[in-house]
Amino acid sequence: MTCFKMLIDGQAAESLSGKTAVIYNPVNQEPVAEVSLGGREDATLALEAAERAFPGWAETSPWERGKLLSRGADLVRERAEEIARLLTMEQGKPLRYARREIVGSAEALDYYAEEGKRNFGEIVPSSSRKARSLVIRQPLGVAAVISPWNYPVDLLAWKLAPALAAGCTVVAKPSSRAPLAANAFAEAVAEAGFPPGVLNLVHGSGREVGRELVESPISRKVSFTGETATGKEIGEKAARFVKRLSLELGGSSPFLVCEDARIGEAAEACMYRAFSNMGQICISVNRIYVHDAVAEEFADELVKKTGTLRIGDGLDPEVDLGPMFSEAQRQKTKDHISDATKKGAEILYGGLEPEGEKYSRGFFFLPTILDKMDHSMRMMREETFGPVAPMMRFSTNQEALKLANDSRYGLAAYVFTEDMTTALRFAERLEAGSVGINLNNPIVPQAPFGGWKESGLSRERSRSALYDYMETKHIRIGLREEI
Ligand code: NDP
Repeated sequence: MTCFKMLIDGQAAESLSGKTAVIYNPVNQEPVAEVSLGGREDATLALEAAERAFPGWAETSPWERGKLLSRGADLVRERAEEIARLLTMEQGKPLRYARREIVGSAEALDYYAEEGKRNFGEIVPSSSRKARSLVIRQPLGVAAVISPWNYPVDLLAWKLAPALAAGCTVVAKPSSRAPLAANAFAEAVAEAGFPPGVLNLVHGSGREVGRELVESPISRKVSFTGETATGKEIGEKAARFVKRLSLELGGSSPFLVCEDARIGEAAEACMYRAFSNMGQICISVNRIYVHDAVAEEFADELVKKTGTLRIGDGLDPEVDLGPMFSEAQRQKTKDHISDATKKGAEILYGGLEPEGEKYSRGFFFLPTILDKMDHSMRMMREETFGPVAPMMRFSTNQEALKLANDSRYGLAAYVFTEDMTTALRFAERLEAGSVGINLNNPIVPQAPFGGWKESGLSRERSRSALYDYMETKHIRIGLREEI
């Protein structure tokens, strides 16, 4: 079986302990490959390599860094098929979506190859004729990058690219449960010719490798995507060193369907955002609020469209939905459904595992639509991270807004309406980092992405992410006598 090694100080590295871990396919629980399983000592080696490499890397120009990032993007695109297949086999998503993830990750490298060149400073007005003030931004040091399993390549790439473009060196730790595609991606990027120690990747558990990356005084910044509970723990530890922090955490995104919405389009958009990647998306639709007058029509459309989705092995090109990532995710989904039905919800579609031999060894579950939901139910308050579309009805827009904002999360929100005033009023009042009006994907490279409330701190993508890997410095220059 292939064994994927770590990347430390420019070398493929086995773990010091010699331990390895097997990664299994969620479609049939068969082994896919092995990885070298690092521990705290391996993380320390990688951090030390990154620390040594930092001064030299920080001194390179954004143009030199950009060239390497672009070359890395080309290498990733050349290997997109191989990396995408690994992703499907370790995570479950259909191959066409895995390909999209890899191509999008190459785009991250290209985007920051250019954005890094636009690290403009400021000359601020001086209060004295005898002094001038410059404000510049400089790379902050070693960045620890910790990512989850649901988009293991994409989420790594959108951290790695701005960090490297900013002049930081990086130690990355992908999810220990889906590390293969992330490993292949990092290898391709590294082959562009980054100096040793600039880009390191260590495999291992969050409890060991992740902890070391957060607790070591070497890392000056932690960029984490994962569960809110883990993010809070990391935040507390990082605070001891006043480390810079980016946290991209859980979500519970509302999807509002107003009385005047185009119902067919809204149902289609809702279905994709609720069920793609089996609902294991931080900006997945978690709570649907539909105006009374159109609720029946919307529910019928949603059920009809969902019935056309094909479920199976993601390597089959006909498949729309693969298995869930793990038994734990599937069980949590079942628990949330059972809690909702006990409290009065009605299942309109799905609610159980699909039948048949081909589903027997994978973590399959039918996309599930529920009606008659209310806020006493766990699904409306916690992140299910499963293929569920729970519906609740409203009669006024004020009521819908109140329900949508009644959450500790604030990552994304969606509004479907044909009235521009309604759309803008909602967009301005919804407590979320991104709002999609009449569309279901509010994430683009050039706009900031991140959460309000317990969905996170800081912003990824756009110029914001580049600046998040930099410290700001004010330089005040005293001038001599007049010329
Ligand atoms: P986890 O929080 O369990 O893990 C995320 C990463 O952190 C993994 O690499 C994990 O390692 C590591 N980790 C775990 N514990 C620690 C620790 N104490 N110190 C340092 N690192 C640690 O999240 P999941 O992998 O389960 O991902 C799903 C979650 O991610 C969902 O809540 C989802 O909403 C969120 N998410 C948020 C996004 C956003 O942009 N806001 C985007 C995508 C997902 P290990 O693999 O070994 O456990």
